[in-house]
Amino acid sequence: MEIGSPQIELVYKVFAQEFKINRTPVVDLIEIQTKDPFKVLITTILSARTKDETTAAAAKRLFESVKNPRDLKNISEDKLQKLIFPVGFYRMKARHLKELPLVLEKHFGGKIPADVDELTKLPGVGRKTANLVVAVAFKKPAVCVDIHVHRIFNRLGYLKTSTPFETEMELRRTLPVKFWITFNSYFVSYGQHTCLPVKPKCSECRVSGYCAFLWNNVPTVKPPKNLKPKRQKS
Ligand code: SF4
Repeated sequence: MEIGSPQIELVYKVFAQEFKINRTPVVDLIEIQTKDPFKVLITTILSARTKDETTAAAAKRLFESVKNPRDLKNISEDKLQKLIFPVGFYRMKARHLKELPLVLEKHFGGKIPADVDELTKLPGVGRKTANLVVAVAFKKPAVCVDIHVHRIFNRLGYLKTSTPFETEMELRRTLPVKFWITFNSYFVSYGQHTCLPVKPKCSECRVSGYCAFLWNNVPTVKPPKNLKPKRQKS
């Protein structure tokens, strides 16, 4: 199956509908509730290697005391650790949060940059976080690939990549830009509810007819004729 094929439109449409029904990923929730790039950035940093429920509770506690970079500057690292515990790597994340206002002041006039490369200069911000902040907080096209996105694109048969970074590079090349801002939220939500990492709920999945994972793992299920991979033109 090709990324530019009509089937990606259909898969995307189904994931968008499911996204509205299912619980929204925590970073999107913070954006919807606050419209604040600072809070989206902080929540995204907290969310790494942490369940959404834990991130949401930690963000709620933190935002009661910290509403902007100035508050972050004035709070102690110790207090930060206590507020964000038990998110994954909370000690390291507290240190990064403490450093954040100084780096923002020094390089970006105290403002959250809206550019992936600039965001990666902030403490604790890698490409995944930077792309997510650009897409969710600034509504600018960015290709945020996490483990859900990487897994689902490969299961569907759109890509054959071994790492999230490879997936990001392939999607940058092939995924129509109109999908960039929202696809991460839709795929993450689908990955949390239906296309689970270990036991995907294929029997409930509305895009199972388009999914190479089923064609490869259940011999009785054949792909529809028009969905068989096309021979690439040389
Ligand atoms: S059919 Fe199964 S593997 Fe394929 S997208 Fe649906 S849940 Fe995931």
